[in-house]
Amino acid sequence: MTPPAIMWFRRDLRVGDHPALLAAADGGEVLPLFVLDDRLLKPAGEPRRRFLYDCLRALDRDLSGRLHVVHGDPVRVVPELAAKIGAGGVHVSADTGPYGRERDEQVRKALGDIDFVRTGSPYAVTPGRVRKSDGEPYRVFTPFRRAWLDHGWRQPAKSDVDSAQWMKLKGGEKIPAGKSELPAGEQAALEAWQDFRDGALADYDTGRDRPDRNGTSMLAAYLRWGCVHPRTLLADLKPGHETFRSELAWREFYADVLWHRPNTARENYDRKFDKFEHDTGKAARQRFEAWCEGRTGYPVVDAGMRQLLAENWMHNRVRMIVASFLVKDLHLPWWWGARHFMRHLIDGDLASNQHNWQWVAGCGTDAAPYFRIFNPTTQGEKFDPNGDYVRKYVPELRGVPGKTVHKLGKLPADYPAPMVDHNHERRVSLDRYEAVRTS
Ligand SMILES: Cc1cc2nc3c(=O)[nH]c(=O)nc-3n(C[C@H](O)[C@H](O)[C@H](O)COP(=O)(O)OP(=O)(O)OC[C@H]3O[C@@H](n4cnc5c(N)ncnc54)[C@H](O)[C@@H]3O)c2cc1C
Repeated sequence: MTPPAIMWFRRDLRVGDHPALLAAADGGEVLPLFVLDDRLLKPAGEPRRRFLYDCLRALDRDLSGRLHVVHGDPVRVVPELAAKIGAGGVHVSADTGPYGRERDEQVRKALGDIDFVRTGSPYAVTPGRVRKSDGEPYRVFTPFRRAWLDHGWRQPAKSDVDSAQWMKLKGGEKIPAGKSELPAGEQAALEAWQDFRDGALADYDTGRDRPDRNGTSMLAAYLRWGCVHPRTLLADLKPGHETFRSELAWREFYADVLWHRPNTARENYDRKFDKFEHDTGKAARQRFEAWCEGRTGYPVVDAGMRQLLAENWMHNRVRMIVASFLVKDLHLPWWWGARHFMRHLIDGDLASNQHNWQWVAGCGTDAAPYFRIFNPTTQGEKFDPNGDYVRKYVPELRGVPGKTVHKLGKLPADYPAPMVDHNHERRVSLDRYEAVRTS
C-alpha cells in the first residue's frame, strides 16, 4: 500500500492552482497540515495573524474539517508527525524567504529518509530563476521584468479539493480565535479578483494612483498567504493590462532580490548608505510617534497613517508619500517605518515591504534618485485633488472644503501645525546625501 503523504500548507492556503497539492496526491492519502510557528507568528502583528487564522478556518472548511493544526517548531513537529502516520513524503510549495529557506533545510535534514518535496512557490517564476546571460541576478527592475516575461510561467494547475484523498487525524490544535475585517480564504480571494478584473482593472493605469478611489485590486493580503496564486491572475490578463502585470512583476522582483541577498531584509542593499546620518534619540522617537499616529500636520501623510491604523492597509501612492516623509523630512531610519508597517499591514510581506522602503530611502535596487524628494503638499493636491481621501481619515479636516484640505496655512486650529518645514528638511536631506555620495 502506498504510504500517506503530508501536504504542509504555509503560504499557499488554497486548493486551486496548487502544484504541490497535486504532487502530494500522487499516491495514497494526504494529511493537510499547518504549523503554528511562534517565530513567524510573534513578529507578524495582530491584523496579519487574525487574517491568517481566518484563512486557516476557510481552508479547514474547504477540507471538510480535516486541516490538522499543530503548534511548535516545525523542525521538531513535522518529522514527529510524519513518523507517527508513517508518511512517505512531506510536500510543500517552496518558501524562498530568509527564515523559510533555513527552516526548510533543517526540516529536510530532520526528516531523514522521508522525502521532503518542494513543488512550485508563491511566485509565477520561482525566485532565483531569472538571471542575466552571465548568470548574475538582476539589480534593476525593468530588465528583470523583460527577462521574467521571456521566461514565462505555466498555465494554472488543475487542482481542487477533490484532487486528493484527504486524511483526518485526531487531536491537533484549534485554530486561534480572531476575526479579520477582510473576508479570508480562497473563495474570498477569487471573488475579489473577479470583481476587480471585471471592474477597476480597465482603468487601473490611471485609477491605481488615486487614493480617493477604489482603483486597486486589494489582493496583496491574499497573495501574501497564497489564497490565490499570481499565475491564476496572470492567466486572466489581456492586452491592455500591462500595468497590472508589471505590478505583479514588482512583487516577483523583490522576492528575487531577497532570495539572492537575504541580508537586505535588515541591511541596506546599497552598503554605501551604511554611512548615512539618521536622527536618533528622544526627539527623533517623539517625531516617530507623531508619524505613527498621523499627527505630523501634513494632511495626506496623516490620512495615510490613520488609514493604516484604522484599516490595516494603506494605498500604494500614500505608502510612498509617508515613507518619503519619514526618511527625508524626519530623517529617521527606514527600518523604523518598515517595522511599523509590518506590525500593522494586513498584507505585510518581508520582501515587498523592506525593498519598497529601501527604494523610497534611495538605498535599494533601482535607486529612486535620492534627490527626487516628494513634496507632501503637492503630492496630496495631485493625487487627492478634491481632498476626499484626507477628509475620510482626518476628522479634524472634515469641515474644510475641496482641495483646501491640502493648504497648510488654512487648516483649523484643532489640527496639528506642520511638525517640520518641508523646504528646510529637504535641504538637510540633500546635504546628508551629498556627504554619503562624496565619502
Ligand atoms: C513603503 C511601502 C511598503 C510596502 N509594503 C508592502 C507589503 O508589505 N506587502 C505588499 O504586498 N506590498 C507592499 N507594498 C507595495 C504596494 O503598496 C502594495 O502591494 C499595494 O498597495 C497593495 O494593494 P493592492 O493589492 O490593491 O495593489 P494593486 O495595485 O492591485 O497591485 C496588485 C498586486 O501587485 C503587487 N504590487 C503592487 N505594487 C507593488 C510594489 N510596489 N511592490 C511589490 N509588489 C507590488 C501586490 O502583490 C499587489 O497586490 C509597499 C509599498 C511601499 C511604497
